[in-house]
Amino acid sequence: MKLVLGHLYPEYLNIYADRGNIAVLTQRAAWRGIEVEVLAIGLGDAVPARADLLYVGGGQDREQALVAPDMAAKAEGLRSSLDAGAALLAVCGGYQLLGRSYVDAAGALLPGAGILPLHTEAGRRRLIGDVLLECELEPGSPRTLAGFENHAGRTLLDEGALPLGRVLAGFGNDGQSGFEGCRLGRALGTYLHGPLLPRNPWLADWLIAEALARQNGGVPPQLAPLGDALESAAHDVAARRARERGGRF
Ligand code: GLN
Repeated sequence: MKLVLGHLYPEYLNIYADRGNIAVLTQRAAWRGIEVEVLAIGLGDAVPARADLLYVGGGQDREQALVAPDMAAKAEGLRSSLDAGAALLAVCGGYQLLGRSYVDAAGALLPGAGILPLHTEAGRRRLIGDVLLECELEPGSPRTLAGFENHAGRTLLDEGALPLGRVLAGFGNDGQSGFEGCRLGRALGTYLHGPLLPRNPWLADWLIAEALARQNGGVPPQLAPLGDALESAAHDVAARRARERGGRF
């Protein structure tokens, strides 16, 4: 099997080395004999129909302002890619721009792609620190996700929209709702960045399997388990730090 990964705006949205998530996806696929081809999708580029997985990282307001009109112009391409079964992971600034709009810290209204059912407005205080979530992407199989957040944006999900997870410690979407991120089918948006996938390998595997589903009769293939001792240890350190920071909800 081969997986085509479309990386949106690699030259603009890569804060906290978000690009490292791509290294994790590529290596975990390679360990299962799955080749990953990474396509950069920049300003003015069409969203390639052959992308099985789309990835967009985070950025400061300045970089977001540079890409926002282009992201909005890609709305149709992104939607048809998701409708055709592609999976997606959007982090922080990229997550905000997949919603309808982002009002940045200077009060400027940036257009979004309107793919995820949400909008975001910057607040005065930044929400910073380790985060621990409980996610249930597969009903009956709750998993924890440990990460780091640093955002001024308060993201409000539309009525009925699904979050990615429940906040066990940290701020999450807006510091109040108790929820973090957004899930729309195979598309996930989250504020957790930096090394998100290295310490949450189950999420990397979920994305790989969901991305390959369309090559497997619509069913995510069963991936061979890997020895994740180091990854689990990294998760546990981050989870402990988040818990020490304290549960806010
Ligand atoms: N500029 C956005 C905010 O502060 C996103 C920041 C980021 O990607 N770290 O909310």
